[in-house]
Amino acid sequence: MGVKYDTTMFEGEPICGAAVRKEIEGILVMSDKPKTQEHIKVDQDLCVGCRLCYELCPTGSYEMTDEGKADWSQFGMGHCGECGLCRYICPVDAIDWNYPEGGTGKIHQWA
Ligand code: SF4
Ligand code: SF4
Repeated sequence: MGVKYDTTMFEGEPICGAAVRKEIEGILVMSDKPKTQEHIKVDQDLCVGCRLCYELCPTGSYEMTDEGKADWSQFGMGHCGECGLCRYICPVDAIDWNYPEGGTGKIHQWA
């Protein structure tokens, strides 16, 4: 059980067309149980500041620090859609990516 995902919480430039985003409205459901643990961590020593995660994350979950490193901790818990894109694109494997603890976060299903 959950509530229908509010796509207005997406930030940043959309990376898919209107037709796809309309479909997403119907299939992403948010769990009633909020996440309690960060499920993504950026290794600040490995990050080379390429900005790919920051520029391409469809939910605007990353920001860049004054030191030029990616930071997920400020917005990620509330915004991350768990798509896995950041994990895939990071060129230096600096992103430790895990699913949220059981029963929390997004649930992908037909609503
Ligand atoms: S998993 Fe997807 S939505 Fe979540 S931070 Fe990474 S790119 Fe953004
Ligand atoms: S994609 Fe990887 S190296 Fe590039 S800014 Fe993000 S965490 Fe850093």
